[in-house]
Amino acid sequence: MLIVLEPDISQEQKNRILSILQEGGCIFREISDAGQGIIGSTGNAGYDPEYFESLPGVARVVPVNTTFKLVSRQMHPEDTRVQVGDVSVGGERIVVVAGPCAVENRDQTLSVAGEVRKYGAMIFRGGAFKPRTSPYAFQGLGEEGLKILAEVRRTYGMPVVTEITTPAQADLVMKYVDVIQVGARNMQNFELLKCVGRLGKPVLLKRGLSATIEEWLMSAEYILSEGNDNVILCERGIRTFEPYTRNTLDLSAIPVIKSLTHLPVIIDPSHATGSREKVSPMSRAAVAAGADGLMVEVHSDPDRALSDGAQSLYPDQFARLMRDLYVIAPVVDKQVDFAYLDKARAVAHMEQAGGGEGRKAAYLGEIGSYSHKACMQYFGERVDLTPVNAFKGVYEAVKDGSADFGVIPLENSLAGSVHENYDLLLEYDLRIVGEITLRIEHNLVGHPGASLGDIRRVYSHPQVFQQCRQYIDRHDWELVPVSDTAHAVRHIREQDDSSEAALAGRDAARIFEMEILEAGIETNPRNYTRFVVIAREPLAGGEKQKSSLIFSTGNQPGSLFEALKVFADNGINLVKLESRPIHGKPWEYMFYVDLEADVEAEDFAPVMAQLREKIDYLKVLGSY
Ligand code: PEP
Ligand code: MN
Repeated sequence: MLIVLEPDISQEQKNRILSILQEGGCIFREISDAGQGIIGSTGNAGYDPEYFESLPGVARVVPVNTTFKLVSRQMHPEDTRVQVGDVSVGGERIVVVAGPCAVENRDQTLSVAGEVRKYGAMIFRGGAFKPRTSPYAFQGLGEEGLKILAEVRRTYGMPVVTEITTPAQADLVMKYVDVIQVGARNMQNFELLKCVGRLGKPVLLKRGLSATIEEWLMSAEYILSEGNDNVILCERGIRTFEPYTRNTLDLSAIPVIKSLTHLPVIIDPSHATGSREKVSPMSRAAVAAGADGLMVEVHSDPDRALSDGAQSLYPDQFARLMRDLYVIAPVVDKQVDFAYLDKARAVAHMEQAGGGEGRKAAYLGEIGSYSHKACMQYFGERVDLTPVNAFKGVYEAVKDGSADFGVIPLENSLAGSVHENYDLLLEYDLRIVGEITLRIEHNLVGHPGASLGDIRRVYSHPQVFQQCRQYIDRHDWELVPVSDTAHAVRHIREQDDSSEAALAGRDAARIFEMEILEAGIETNPRNYTRFVVIAREPLAGGEKQKSSLIFSTGNQPGSLFEALKVFADNGINLVKLESRPIHGKPWEYMFYVDLEADVEAEDFAPVMAQLREKIDYLKVLGSY
């Protein structure tokens, strides 16, 4: 049982609770969870939680029927996000930790760091104290290695993680690294667990070679019970009878962990499998299974690595893996962002420019709408979100400075382009600074207890009706278009008429306490919406892989062909071409192009010069 104390409990009230527990023969200890006073108690099964709840100074009592208490979901129903510098582990972003097994020397380490950073890794790994099976194997560079890790952090702006093998290294790791790893062999080194619990820095806790999930969570409990909630669990394979892989990767641990605990879980496919060709398939599976991230060994010259070369990916394999994960993540409601660190830095930089106030992002709709979700997935908790009630309002808010960013849907894979936004991008002088794709799953949302046969009238955004066409056609419903999906759910709630339903996302149903009557009703499950992020200025720094342009050509034969030929001749891939009528000039068109290049990079200037010769008008919407 966990007795959660009121923040203003007096010492006298607390002493009274402690003495009741003592007299009852309970084992108890005072713990703190995110600054909240808690007494954890176990031992006297006869105690009634309601009795403790009635004592002065007690906020609530959480009966916990598992051996692990603070790590249990019962104690903390919301997911914990572990903040590591700019990176949040356990949120919407898949966090990829990458780097060599060991820090071998400065050049090797900085070279791998540059590569993995370029391809989207967010945290750098490298062992300085290596626990090796043989005492004759390379044992790590010690403090010299930690200094190299600190240099990686300075050079590339990446947080770093390294393993601690004894409490005697505590001062050193505190000085140089951002996340402290407890390795598989030390998972039950209880003195070490207590030590990292007291240090307070984020801890990456590997699962022991032959530890059950319960034993692993009990080890995490040691860390939390010392007041440190910043624990990331890492499954790295357990020892079984199977010799074809170094260990057996227990991917089934992911859903088990997710139900038992609020802590984030990442997967280490490198130590799990022991060979590089198995690393990418297991990484893809881990993300599909709901892991919050991965820890992958990467080496620029793995054949000469001092440890674990055989399981280390070449940088180009890592790059391909990241691209695959980018595609898989939206299926499970997550995102991979190749430029996460750059964006975080650029946003932080803007914050200072704005006088230290929090940044704001505007979106159409209300909490629970798909645009809201896109904002949350793009920015996490780094900005405040401002709802507006029309697309134009998003542009106006960014233009007049009441928001720093706007998030707008541009196209859907089933229903096509959101034309209004194409026209507004032309009208306003704003910049596209990022993009995000969500997988969109629609549901029929109704009143709790309502049945499908009751429904007469259905509210949603017109685009959603298009995306659910086949399902809708099977029913004889009156369709009522509204501004956004969350609004539709709010409306049916307020009307309080069980013959009304809405088509909307899961979040909106949850927020407005309505029920999902039928899930997954979009015509094709490959239903994605691409949103772009707009701002007044381009974001500084970072690699840009894509650009969006608008241009118009003269009205003579072959003029569009001539313009597009410039891209073809220069080997540039176009990923989108859309035409929109020019207002006031019937039968003349603006062309919207997305291409895989940074059109504002210096070395792209000659291509743009060639393009300008072939067209009448050009507007660069942005590179991102
Ligand atoms: C490591 O990550 O470098 C390592 C030694 O892993 P494990 O403790 O999982 O064997
Ligand atoms: Mn290793």
